[in-house]
This record gives sequence, C-alpha cells and structure tokens, in this order.
Amino acid sequence: MSEEPQLPPIPAIGGLDKKERKRKKAVKISTLHCKCGENFQREFAVGDFLYKESDDKCQKCGKTQTTIVEIYQENVPRNELSMFIRNLNKNA
Ligand SMILES: [Zn+2]
Repeated sequence: MSEEPQLPPIPAIGGLDKKERKRKKAVKISTLHCKCGENFQREFAVGDFLYKESDDKCQKCGKTQTTIVEIYQENVPRNELSMFIRNLNKNA
C-alpha cells in the first residue's frame, strides 16, 4: 500500500541551501597577539601571514608590537556583515 506523493518538487526547497550560502559571506580574520599579553581580532589584510609582526596598535597598551597568531574564516550573514566588520574594526 504505497501512497506515492504526487507533488511536484518545489524549487524553493531545493534552493534554500544555495540561497543560504549566498546569504553568507566568508570573512577572513586575523588574530593578533601583543607582547603585553592581549589578543585581539581584526579583519584580514592583504599581506597578513601567520607569525608576521604587525604594526597594528594594541587596544590595551597602545603599543605596536603585535604578532599575527591566527588567521581564520568566519561565515557571516550578509545582513550582519557591516555590523560584524564594524565591531571587528572597533577592536583593532
Ligand atoms: Zn598590548
């Protein structure tokens, strides 16, 4: 006794994942470590690489003896992107 569903495939459902992916943007983030012990994040900049000595100002002590200790990627929904970047740059 099989009740085969006769519903046609709904394109919207199949398209959700792609849509979701489209709605998110991969943001590269660099984590910087200051000699004073403070860690902070900022948006990845061209030329960044792991263990590079950066001249970013530490938000705690204000010195520029920071080293990139981590580079990673975060998927941020596009509608939160500007806020996300703003928060990142506030940290830096
Ligand atoms: Zn510092």
